[in-house]
Amino acid sequence: MNIVVIGAGYAGTVAANRLKRKAPDTRITVVNPREVFVERVRLHEQLAGSGTAARPLTEMLRDGIAVETASVDKIGDGVVTLDDGRNLDFEHAILAAGSIANPLPGAIPVGTWEGAEQARIALEALPAGGIVTVIGGGLTGIETAAEVAEARPDLRVRLVSDTVGAALSPGAQRHIRTTLARLNVEIVAGQIAEIDGTTLRLGSGAELDSGLTLWAIISAVPALAARSGLAVDVDGRALVDASLRSVTDPRVFVVGDCAAVPGMRMACATAAPQGAHAADTLARMIEGGDPRPFSMGYGGQGLSLGRRDGVLQTTDRADTAQRLYVSGPVAAFTKERITRYAAYASRTGNSVWISGPKQ
Ligand SMILES: Cc1cc2nc3c(=O)[nH]c(=O)nc-3n(C[C@H](O)[C@H](O)[C@H](O)COP(=O)(O)OP(=O)(O)OC[C@H]3O[C@@H](n4cnc5c(N)ncnc54)[C@H](O)[C@@H]3O)c2cc1C
Repeated sequence: MNIVVIGAGYAGTVAANRLKRKAPDTRITVVNPREVFVERVRLHEQLAGSGTAARPLTEMLRDGIAVETASVDKIGDGVVTLDDGRNLDFEHAILAAGSIANPLPGAIPVGTWEGAEQARIALEALPAGGIVTVIGGGLTGIETAAEVAEARPDLRVRLVSDTVGAALSPGAQRHIRTTLARLNVEIVAGQIAEIDGTTLRLGSGAELDSGLTLWAIISAVPALAARSGLAVDVDGRALVDASLRSVTDPRVFVVGDCAAVPGMRMACATAAPQGAHAADTLARMIEGGDPRPFSMGYGGQGLSLGRRDGVLQTTDRADTAQRLYVSGPVAAFTKERITRYAAYASRTGNSVWISGPKQ
């Protein structure tokens, strides 16, 4: 059976490796635009120069899995068309194309490999005293501001957002603000409406000077699903049935950030179990079994605040923050272990998760 996996991020590599283990006779081809596996959760380290986010893709995939370095332009009727014009036939496809950012012109997105590399080069060139503005007060923005401030204490770093870590408990939010203050990160409440060279205009009309402006909001997904005629939601995520198959074409599983799964947040903590579930389902179907519904619950959220501090926020299965959180070096150490586990799960396909909240 021919299986094409579109995208070699967390969801795609877990799916390919797990399926190859469970159904060794399947012909699996992974299509990815670059020859490296990008640990997206380390992109803030990559850009700050404190870590590396790329590993050779061949090291991440089991023997016998074919790789095509290309982008998929279109998913058709049992065939994907690559951007170099070639076609690959499939009996089943796994769409795992992740998410992208839509930055305001003049800002560099930190959530993509290309953006993080551009940011790293720009940051290296920024002289002492330069101002770095990070836009977005979600976990990516907080991690980026803290990482840059710790790695480059000679720069002025600010974070612009109406909220900072709004999904976390009040105690965790307080710890983040205290740590950002310790790292001399200035928090500016507001939203950037326009970027004009080195001038940032806020919605309020106020203006800020910025030598380097980083966009840390991940809000969009690649247009591939919509372009291919698969049903999508208002954000362009592919609509799926209970077993993560496109509602338009059940031959196509959709997993990770680009899948519209109710109650799921865009996270590698979500992507890996979904990729694993798609592999399990396909292996079962190859044996003549039926697809089973996907169910997954959350247990917490982790973020780094530089290399020596962090926050581990406990959540219920529906991902709502609870009062209990851990911070400081223990949280930083554990977050690093979680990050390593995510790469391990991708390389081996050994993902474990808990079931979702009772309806
Ligand atoms: C700085 C940062 C920190 C983060 N920290 C955390 C964290 O601590 N915990 C957490 O759970 N999540 C975190 N996230 C979010 C997490 O990285 C994503 O949710 C996760 O990477 C999604 O996995 P994925 O497999 O769906 O997509 P991705 O990892 O984005 O992989 C998608 C792959 O598909 C490829 N692709 C795209 N289009 C095509 C195409 N047309 N053809 C072929 N290939 C294509 C992409 O190039 C990419 O290689 C963080 C994100 C960032 C940016």
